[in-house]
Formats: sequence, structure tokens, C-alpha cells
Amino acid sequence: MSSEHQLSLFEDSCNEHKELIPKDSKIPIPAGTYANMTELARHCNQCHRCELANTRTHAVVGRGNLKAPIMVIGEAPGQNEDETGLPFVGRAGQLLEKILASVKLDIEKDVYICNVIKCRPPQNRVPTNEEIEACKPYLLEQIRLVAPKIILLTGATAVKGLLGDKRGITKIRGTWVEWQECLCMPIFHPSYLLRNPSREVGSPKWLMWQDIRAVRAKYDEICQSSS
Ligand code: SF4
Repeated sequence: MSSEHQLSLFEDSCNEHKELIPKDSKIPIPAGTYANMTELARHCNQCHRCELANTRTHAVVGRGNLKAPIMVIGEAPGQNEDETGLPFVGRAGQLLEKILASVKLDIEKDVYICNVIKCRPPQNRVPTNEEIEACKPYLLEQIRLVAPKIILLTGATAVKGLLGDKRGITKIRGTWVEWQECLCMPIFHPSYLLRNPSREVGSPKWLMWQDIRAVRAKYDEICQSSS
């Protein structure tokens, strides 16, 4: 299907074709398709745009403040997330909450959390490029709806999924990248920190502490300049 044909699907009977979105990854999801996150979540839970639909229990859309100034984007749901329908609820999620709380960021008030991929890959394997592309329009709509000032990308898959940057996370963590109206910072995934518990200077945990303090400082700077 050509892109012209795809776009033309939305010209005449938008609502009719909107209902085709969850069935076929070739159906586009133009910006502005969803009026709110509830509509988007309904489509994700019906979605068969990629094969992960066949093995999911729940699509995992997001949690937190729907108008949060900071958005955290992870890779994909794991077992706990698939079972509960909520992102970052296992040990990695608890650690993420502690990291945010260490700079007085409240996960319910200041942050919205989601993943690049909404359905759990079997055995928690890394999502394929096709799966990332099939799911990306939902992510872009989530970003449009939340309209965060800062996006934290946890791990290399999140960076690749949003920015298309394939460099390793150790090379790019802690750097600011401008993307559309947002400032993005790649950071380590909390699961990686669980596997690397050292707090020595230069360790992943120590680097994360530097990064989250930089995030807090940038957030304060943005708040001050807009007040
Ligand atoms: S991972 Fe995304 S694209 Fe694939 S079935 Fe789930 S919601 Fe649809």
C-alpha cells in the first residue's frame, strides 16, 4: 500500500478506518488519532499489528501522570507487567521509583512511564525492529498526549526505538538529545543496575546518580524559565 493510499484512508470515513488500526501495521496512525489515553489503550489491548499479540496477557500501556513533565520510556513489558497490565512494577520498577525519589521526583505526580513495545516478547527477548516499528505510532501518540518536557530513555532499545540511534547505552547515557519539542536523555535501564550493584565511583549506579541529578537540575531550569 502506498503512503498516499494509506493517508487517503483517513480522508473520507476516518472513524471507520480508525477501527482498522489495531488489525494491520500497514494502517497508519496519524498524529491526533487518539483524543485520550483511554482510547489508545483500548486499541493496544485489541491490537494485532505484530505477533506479540498472540502471547500477551495484557497490553501494557503506561502509568503515572497523564500530563507529567517527565516521561520515562523503557523497552518492553516483562512477566509482572504482562500479568498486571502496568509498566515497571517488578524489582526494576521499584528501583526506578527509588532513583526518581532520590531527587524528589514523584512517580505519580511528576512522571509518566511507558515502554517502546506494549506487549511482552516471549522469554523477555529483545523486540525485533518490525515489532518496534509496528508499535511506534502508539508511542508517538502517547508522547503527543502527555507532552512532556523531558524524556528519559532507559536502555539501548528505548533509544533506538525513539531516536533511531543504535549506539550502546554506555556511550550515550547522560547526554541530552533534542527531539521535537523535548529534551531526551538516555540512561541505564534499572534492570542493568540490579545486575551491577556496585556503588563505586564510575560504576553504573554511580553514573546513574550523576544522570538523575542532571535531570533534576534541567527540570528545575525549565520550570524557572517558564515561570
Ligand atoms: S506490541 Fe504493539 S504493535 Fe505489537 S501487538 Fe502489541 S500493541 Fe500491537
